Amino acid sequence: MSKNKGFSRKIRLRLEMCSTCMKMCRDNCPTAIASCSESFTPYIRSLNVNLNEKGIRPYDEGALDSIFSCLTCNLCNTFCLPKVDEAELMELARTSIVESGFDVSKYSRIGESISNYYNPLREDPQNRINSFRDLIPKDNDAETILFLGCMGSYREIEIARASIELLNKLHIDFTIMNEERCCGSPAFRTGFLKSALNVMNHNVSEWQKREIKTIITPCSACYRTIKSFYPKYLSDFDFNVKHMIDVIKSKLDHLPLKTLNSKVTYHDPCHLGRGMDIYDEPREILNKISSIIEMDHNRDKSFCCGAGGGVRANFPELSRKIVDLRINEALNIGVKYLISACPLCKNQFKQSTNIGTLKILDIVELVNQLL
Ligand code: SF4
Ligand code: SF4
Repeated sequence: MSKNKGFSRKIRLRLEMCSTCMKMCRDNCPTAIASCSESFTPYIRSLNVNLNEKGIRPYDEGALDSIFSCLTCNLCNTFCLPKVDEAELMELARTSIVESGFDVSKYSRIGESISNYYNPLREDPQNRINSFRDLIPKDNDAETILFLGCMGSYREIEIARASIELLNKLHIDFTIMNEERCCGSPAFRTGFLKSALNVMNHNVSEWQKREIKTIITPCSACYRTIKSFYPKYLSDFDFNVKHMIDVIKSKLDHLPLKTLNSKVTYHDPCHLGRGMDIYDEPREILNKISSIIEMDHNRDKSFCCGAGGGVRANFPELSRKIVDLRINEALNIGVKYLISACPLCKNQFKQSTNIGTLKILDIVELVNQLL
């Protein structure tokens, strides 16, 4: 094993602070709660990076498991007084580990899939739009693109179809491209920066070729990555980026939405809530349809669905325990609908064995059904 690549002074200070602090986040990290293991807490993760960085204790398998099992959900940051941003620290640590030549074969499935298939699901990139090809506008040279993301394109087809139908109902002129590749988020979160940059550059050059001005996506991870990370990493990024929630919200006062005679709760996706500070808009939409009952963990304290940061691929048992905890919260408040705004969250909820009669839908599907 080679030594980890060095961090900036600022990053080292944040790692030091986290390794030695009073642990306000202690009882809130989903991986620590689900595993009951001290190794899976934010501060032990930072301590592992810190000790390796100082040459005191080089990474071993336990340390790497601790670092790669972080969901990058940043729930700990809500409770963190110095706001060290553990999710970012772990993303940087993973990138450094991957680029320093450590054996990361245990955690590399997502990065390799994105390099080889341009999606983390190992699906044929040529078939990206096959499941909703019939709905795609023909000969369209619109300046807006609907970016469906990998989960929307290959797994949660109902969300893809609902997004297309809804944009049509809202009279928005848009196009979809078969050349779309993963937004890069899963590779980015798991430390495979080169794989991420490869797909990011491809997407931007396709949008530029088509003279696209606006990108709309139903996926919270795509939304945050394209809106916040593309401009940071790519110099010529000049696009207007919207989540489907922005589009619905902008038309909300004029939408003849039917109401729902059942109780709903809303799960804040980590990337949309803590990542982009979007909490009120989905609630305003849902309150027009029904009245929301909040789960114990909501808004900036929302509990991760358990799929983030590569944890579902690399630590499936841990991921399943976390989704069960989240589903139990919804069941405990007696709602009929659990609504989210991210295809990955919806897909993850369906992995739980406890769902019972709970109906799991994306906000785009619900609005499309009621319009
Ligand atoms: S994440 Fe924040 S609160 Fe938790 S140990 Fe690190 S510095 Fe302290
Ligand atoms: S980002 Fe999430 S999983 Fe990672 S340490 Fe913080 S709370 Fe735990």
